[in-house]
Amino acid sequence: MQRATPQEFSRVLSSMCTEPHPAARAAAEEFLATNPGDPATYETVADLEREAVSTLGEIAGHPEAAGYITSGGTEANLQAMRIARDRGMHGGAAGDPATNGRANIVAPASVHFSFQKAAAVLGLELRTAPLGDEYRADPEVMAELVDSDTVAVVGVAGSTEYGRIDPIPAITDLAREAGVLCHVDAAWGGFHLPFTDHDWQFGHADIDTLTIDPHKLGQAAVPAGGLLARSSSLLNELAIDTPYLESASQASLTGTRSGAGVASAAAAMDELWPDGYREQAERSQANADWLAAAFDERGYDVVEPELPLVAADLPESEFDALREVGWRIARTATGDLRVVCMPHVTRETLRRFVTDLDRVE
Ligand SMILES: *Cc1c(COP(=O)(O)O)cnc(C)c1O
Repeated sequence: MQRATPQEFSRVLSSMCTEPHPAARAAAEEFLATNPGDPATYETVADLEREAVSTLGEIAGHPEAAGYITSGGTEANLQAMRIARDRGMHGGAAGDPATNGRANIVAPASVHFSFQKAAAVLGLELRTAPLGDEYRADPEVMAELVDSDTVAVVGVAGSTEYGRIDPIPAITDLAREAGVLCHVDAAWGGFHLPFTDHDWQFGHADIDTLTIDPHKLGQAAVPAGGLLARSSSLLNELAIDTPYLESASQASLTGTRSGAGVASAAAAMDELWPDGYREQAERSQANADWLAAAFDERGYDVVEPELPLVAADLPESEFDALREVGWRIARTATGDLRVVCMPHVTRETLRRFVTDLDRVE
């Protein structure tokens, strides 16, 4: 068998993953063969997971948050919806067979496709509301979709396509009025938002659960997502008895899971929170602003980068020509080119990209 080499990052412009920090890579290798799903046997990695959750809590404005390191944002979102569904059912009306209603989740149209998976797996209906101004959720339109079978209202802090931050306090108000849980998906944006003035985290609004992924802007190795809950009683909705393990219960969806992601997340945050992430956030945002200006000068329609993510309406022929010369780029559902200014995307890389753009124009 020919030895395969991994994709190198120098031309990767539309990925939400990046090269792990060297300390994160080393920790991932070191803990590859540990299993945080069995904390009584693998005690060190279990300690690292507690440390990682505590730092994630600090980043998300709630150092006392409960949580665990998931396989990614998908698992975190699914588990948050599971908590909401089970809370809603214990609480009474939602999805009550007597009223024949199917429990539902209300989210903006910009919500990540992982919620479709969550809804399918959990037997929930996903109701998505058209966006308001500037690609952001409109809480009034969302309110029209809420009814007595609603179990969760979701806001996005750093949307996948345009990097937008929904009005989280208004969305939590909506959840409170409806008496349901409020979940915030900050899978991608969570490691950038602390250095902005947006309201997005536990300290800014009455959020119940939140997704924040170390394996995206946190510069940890894959797989390392994060689920945080305001209280351990909320997280305990997920606890399943574990008869043949020494530990009494397990909240994660996966059983055996690699300690690589957990150790890597702990190492990356130990290295980078807060100063390293702040410097990275400033650098990435400056790169995104530079690229947006470069597109604008060339006459393309650009979506202003609120977070370090630039979308522009390149013609298909130019997009294809850029892919042809090796740029790993992708489009939004409406066909806009989408460049995610991850830590590996340097100004030099963007200059080379714009030079190629000028050649294919
Ligand atoms: C990437 C992303 C997810 C999914 O996370 P995975 O780690 O790919 O499972 C969910 N929500 C948002 C907003 C994302 O950007």
